[in-house]
Amino acid sequence: MNTDPQSVIYLDNNATTQVDPAVFEAMTPWLRDEYGNPSSVYSLGRRAASAIDHAREQVASLISAAPSEIVFTSCGSESINSAILSAASLDPDKTHIITTAVEHSATVKLCEHLARRGYEITSLPVDSTGQLDPERLAQALRPDTALVTLLWANNETGTLFPIKEISRLTNAKKVPLHIDGVQGVGKLPLNVNELGTQFLSLSGHKLHCPKGVAALHVNKRMRFTPWLRGSQENSRRGGTQNVASIVGLGQAAALAASHLTEEAGSIAALRDRFENALLASIPGTEVNGDRAHRLPNTSNLAFPQVDSEAVLMLLDEETICCSAGSACTSGSVHPSHVLKAMGFDNDRIRGSLRFSFGRFNTTAQIETACEAIPRVIAKLQQLRPSGSPVAMAS
Ligand code: PLP
Repeated sequence: MNTDPQSVIYLDNNATTQVDPAVFEAMTPWLRDEYGNPSSVYSLGRRAASAIDHAREQVASLISAAPSEIVFTSCGSESINSAILSAASLDPDKTHIITTAVEHSATVKLCEHLARRGYEITSLPVDSTGQLDPERLAQALRPDTALVTLLWANNETGTLFPIKEISRLTNAKKVPLHIDGVQGVGKLPLNVNELGTQFLSLSGHKLHCPKGVAALHVNKRMRFTPWLRGSQENSRRGGTQNVASIVGLGQAAALAASHLTEEAGSIAALRDRFENALLASIPGTEVNGDRAHRLPNTSNLAFPQVDSEAVLMLLDEETICCSAGSACTSGSVHPSHVLKAMGFDNDRIRGSLRFSFGRFNTTAQIETACEAIPRVIAKLQQLRPSGSPVAMAS
């Protein structure tokens, strides 16, 4: 089998992305020569501090925020945890949190933890396209609601929630709103001022930066209580900053911003070409997600009478990477909670795979995938295996 990472057909860009060579380049001096601590006062340290300042401006610019509103963290999960814990701790009389049934595990697990600590969690349902009805959110808002926390873009289906409509409702009731923007930032234009959100999480490894660096946007009018205490990041996140990775995140944000609309268009064209080809060549295939309001790069398809685990294994032999099932917990065999919340039965979930496209995919790769996938599905349909889906890196 071919084990060269550069030659795989990588259709799993919602799990993580290949580091952009320009990001790698930008990071290298900060790993090799420029080893100063950004809190040190001598010039070696001051250079690191100003590199972080520059990255903060780049990240802020991607989402039209003020640089002072950006807090660097270690991952999207940390950003999400920090926002939720901060809002939850603001007022002891406010112990109600609203979220949805299709959130990432970082939100799900923290809400479960908070429920054990006495918080009441309202988990809003979604419809069969994974879409949320803002009216249900309006009905769930209460005087003791501490926070509404929900996705912008769903990592499994790409379905986009109507954030502007949602923020109109939360702002009218003065309830803080945290958006998990990890999958959307860098793939679609976003302006936090127009969105009207109080917190927004984003993560580097979803936008061609290495894993282990992320950011939280905290609106300047929002009070913020840090979870990881220390003097760095203006006392909003303790820990000596990961200078090289932060520089990388800044570069990744600048690259994304420089060709966001064209890139979204060309990736959507690849995705649509792929999706239409498979819908035409594999009878009974269905799309999971809201096709009218969806990330440009995501295609979640339900194939009839196959087990996604088996499909993944056969595609791996053809060096095609994609995902099945759900959850960050590799080895988990639970069906996707997202597809379940959309009301699908186990057979449909078992046959569902997520394909997510990115900057480095080519038309030739899509053509190869469109030839291989129907062949693999047909082979498995003839064998009619049974089993459960495997875990998907989210
Ligand atoms: N939120 C969403 C929607 C995600 O897809 C992910 C990715 O795993 C995360 C949060 C967590 O981000 P990170 O892997 O940086 O912790």
